[in-house]
Amino acid sequence: MNYTPHPERYQKMVYNTCGNSGLKLPAISLGLWHNFGDDKPHSIKQEICRTAFDLGITHFDLANNYGPPPGTAELAFGRILKEDFAGLRDELVISTKAGYEMWPGPYGEWGSKKYLIASCDQSLKRMGLDYVDIFYSHRFDPNTPLEETMQALDYIVRSGKALYVGISSYNSKRTKAAVAILKELGTPCLIHQPSYSMLNRWIEDDGLLDTINELGIGSIVFSPLAQGMLTTKYLKDIPEDSRASQLKSLNPNFLNDDNIEKIKQLNRMAENRNQTLAQMAIAWVLRNRRVTSALIGASRAEQVVDCVGAINNLDFTDGELTEIDRYATD
Ligand code: NDP
Repeated sequence: MNYTPHPERYQKMVYNTCGNSGLKLPAISLGLWHNFGDDKPHSIKQEICRTAFDLGITHFDLANNYGPPPGTAELAFGRILKEDFAGLRDELVISTKAGYEMWPGPYGEWGSKKYLIASCDQSLKRMGLDYVDIFYSHRFDPNTPLEETMQALDYIVRSGKALYVGISSYNSKRTKAAVAILKELGTPCLIHQPSYSMLNRWIEDDGLLDTINELGIGSIVFSPLAQGMLTTKYLKDIPEDSRASQLKSLNPNFLNDDNIEKIKQLNRMAENRNQTLAQMAIAWVLRNRRVTSALIGASRAEQVVDCVGAINNLDFTDGELTEIDRYATD
């Protein structure tokens, strides 16, 4: 069935300016890491993306290796761009990344210019795009000069393959160095993509959140639901169709008694705020407006609807934040 975007899609979503740039991102963005590979029917992927766009989610995040197998999430999204989002390219912010293993041999991963540029070209082909909005270095490469990785990002923008560039999972020290090199090259760093949630607060300990704000770059935090742990789904058992049951990236050992107890307490607080736990977890990463966007994943369209409901209550009292700190520990 043909898709017509919801006419009121821009009325509820909050759009935050990304650092010192002119680009606005939705407070909630959708990532295609899981659930967009060959292991899922296309109709589910299509419904997730349509639902997201109807709710004002304009930003879709990919990487070369998302699947399984690697590359298939970009292929599936390319099909959605062609069949569902045709004519909507200028309403979308699409990102992709390179850094993890994508093809065999010495040129298929990490941060060399050789790898990043070839990977960007491959991603564009898979998605059927002339350019992506944001291209990321997916991880810091200790064996490639940082200058080379940043020169590759600069080249990708100058050659029209991307509009902006970002870095992912770089620590505070490396972020400062990368941002300085990009500035000198004349291609400012738009955004940082680190992990962050109530159960994973490394960016506070590392000083990265302060660094990002001081440098004037934006931030989009991945796995704000701790891959689904910050929802009610694991409170009784491990449901069959959940990420933890599939022995993929969410290790069921994380669902130990200690964490389940924290999640129960956080859920009690969410109920007091008339929110679902997923909504409170998203609101929490966005608190004080220090983070530009929360980057969620979803295995069903209903999850996107639930998550976007976070927008209705993004504020916390000091008392709530103090109480959350008792349970929100790594
Ligand atoms: P989340 O923490 O949002 O976890 C998503 C999972 O949580 C879903 O697959 C689903 O699990 C569950 N979920 C989502 N919403 C709900 C809900 N309302 N109720 C109940 N369960 C819910 O994020 P991800 O870990 O998926 O990461 C998001 C994105 O971040 C990725 O797609 C990718 O774009 C990016 N990312 C970037 C990385 C990097 O290195 N830069 C690394 C990892 C992710 P289930 O499948 O069990 O239903």
